[in-house]
Amino acid sequence: MTTIDRGYLLDVLRRLIAINSINPSLSPGAPGEAQIAGCLAELCRDLGLDVQIAEAAPGRPNVVATLRGEGRGRSLLLNGHVDTVSVEGMDRPFAPYEREGRVYGRGAYDMKGSLAAMLAATAAIRAQHRLRGDLMLAFVADEEYASLGTEALVRTARADAAIVTEGTELQIGIAHKGFAWVQFETAGVAAHGSRYDEGRDAIAAMGSVLVELRRLETMRLPQHRHPLLGRASVHASLIEGGEGLSTYPSRSVLRVERRTLPGEMAADIEAEMREVLQRAVGADAVAEGKVGVFFFRPAYEIEPHAPVVLALSAAGQRVLGAPLRVIGLSPWMDSAILGTAGIPTVIFGPSGAGAHAAEEYVDVKSVVRCAQVLAQTAVQFCGAR
Ligand SMILES: [Zn+2]
Repeated sequence: MTTIDRGYLLDVLRRLIAINSINPSLSPGAPGEAQIAGCLAELCRDLGLDVQIAEAAPGRPNVVATLRGEGRGRSLLLNGHVDTVSVEGMDRPFAPYEREGRVYGRGAYDMKGSLAAMLAATAAIRAQHRLRGDLMLAFVADEEYASLGTEALVRTARADAAIVTEGTELQIGIAHKGFAWVQFETAGVAAHGSRYDEGRDAIAAMGSVLVELRRLETMRLPQHRHPLLGRASVHASLIEGGEGLSTYPSRSVLRVERRTLPGEMAADIEAEMREVLQRAVGADAVAEGKVGVFFFRPAYEIEPHAPVVLALSAAGQRVLGAPLRVIGLSPWMDSAILGTAGIPTVIFGPSGAGAHAAEEYVDVKSVVRCAQVLAQTAVQFCGAR
C-alpha cells in the first residue's frame, strides 16, 4: 500500500491557501491564477515531473504536469481547479490554520485540499512505484466562472480516463446535473395608466409565463427521476420591467434557470420553453413574446462499470477497508467538459464544508485518505511494477 507523507501534504495545502487565487471574472481586480500556477509548477518540478504552463486566456494559466510511465499502460488525468470565489465576510482567508483536524481558509475545501492530495499522491507514487501509463496532473483556471481552463485543456490533452478531485466526502461521483439559462421577453404597449383601451401590460403577460413555469416545476418535471440525481427543476432568477406607476409597461424580461438531467440537450430545453411561452401567450392577450436558451452546460454521467470507476472502487476498498459509496452530485462540474471530449471521468475528493461560505475548511484525515486512494487508483489503472 502506498504511504502518504502527511507533513508534505499539509505544507503544500498551507502554501496554496496562502496564495490569493480569487477568480477575476467573479471579483474584478482579483489576482487570478498566475501566482498559484507558478507555485504549483515549482512543486511539480521538485517532484521531477514534466511541467507545461499554457494560458487558457491572457493571464489565466493552466499547469499540466506529467509523471511519465514506462509504457504499455493506460494514462490517467487528475483534474483540479486552482481558482476560488471571493473572500467576503472571512476573517483570515489567506492565513491557513489547523484546528481539531481541520485546515481553515479560502479554498481549503474548494479545492486546494484536493490539489494537495494530487501532489502528495504523485510524490508517493514516484517514491514507491514505477507506473506503466502516464499520470497527468491538470491544475486548471477559471472553474468558478466559465471553465476556460478545462475547455483549453481538452483541446490538447488526451488521457484514457480522468478524475475530477472536487470534494465528494470520499464517495465516488458518477453523475451530476447540468443547467440551462433561459431568457423570456414579453412586449406590451406603453400607454398612460388611464388608457386601458390603448395599453398592453407586458409584466402581467410575464405573470402568465411564471404561472406556466410553476406548472412545469410542480407537475411535469417531478414525473421523471434519475436514480442518483433525482428530478430536474426550474426556478425564476431575475426579472425586470416597467417604466413608472402611471404607465403600462411595454417590456418585461425574465431570466430563469433550468437544472437538467443526463440526456437533456439545449434543443430540448429550448423546445420546452417555447411551449411554456406559447401556453402563456394563449392564456393571455400578450402582444408578443420571445424565448431563448443563452447558456447551456450539459449534465454528465459515466457508466458504473467503466474501468476508471472500477479502479477507484477497488482502490477505495483497499485503502479504507470498506466499499466507497457511489453517488450523484447536484452542481455542474468540469467533468462534463472532460466527458464530452471523450475522456471517461469520475469525481472523487475529500471531506469538508463551507465552499463559497464565510467559514471554509477541509478535513485533514480525509485529504490524506484521498491522496492514498488516488495513488492506489493510479497504480491500479495505469499499471505498475
Ligand atoms: Zn470547485
